[in-house]
Amino acid sequence: MQIANGWTQQEIGRSRGGLPLEVYRPAGADTIDGLLIAGIHGEEPETLLLARRLLERIDGADTRWAILPCANPDGVVRGVRQNAAGVDLNRNFPSTSWQPDHSFTYPPGTPVRKREYRTNRSSPGESPGSEPETKALIALMEALNPALIIDLHSPLELIAPTPAANREIVQQLATAAGLTVQPDIGSPTPGALRDWCSDRGIAAITYEVEHAPLPALCERHLPGLAMLLTPFRSASR
Ligand SMILES: [Zn+2]
Repeated sequence: MQIANGWTQQEIGRSRGGLPLEVYRPAGADTIDGLLIAGIHGEEPETLLLARRLLERIDGADTRWAILPCANPDGVVRGVRQNAAGVDLNRNFPSTSWQPDHSFTYPPGTPVRKREYRTNRSSPGESPGSEPETKALIALMEALNPALIIDLHSPLELIAPTPAANREIVQQLATAAGLTVQPDIGSPTPGALRDWCSDRGIAAITYEVEHAPLPALCERHLPGLAMLLTPFRSASR
């Protein structure tokens, strides 16, 4: 389906709860350079809004990136991290690191999340890749074969690239937003999308924004992301 602003919207599958998973592709692009994913954790809806702002600010004619604004609609509509089956999708990928046991969802001691209110244990699903969202994401990544994947999260305020990620691009993103680059987020994330990408030598960046109001997040993070998504437009200016 063609939409305004040069983007094409396509349903790539359904969530466990039956909600559509939608990817936006630049209408005129035969090949895709990158894939930006947001909202894989439903309790991080600010990432979805940042992805949406990129779709609004960038014309599809100016980019060769695809954007999946909401990888976990079940969690977003419920305001929780997991999908409708209670699975943390970012622990469900069939990576070598996948574990059947529950794992920490974020580094213990992260001050912005209080254990009294929220669990710090994540269900990885019944088996690696058991969830429809995980299957759809893998199929999308394999179909697009992007040179770089960016996975938006909050609130750790850092950039964590896989070894295959281009260092110059990583540094440009970090500099644009004033973020630190860390090889990992501080605790194991078995079954994470990032681990799955690392296993396959795929360049991916876990991009964690901070807890902040949306205008502040847009001001800090959108310029660098927009520059990455529109290299031709930037170069011609
Ligand atoms: Zn997250």
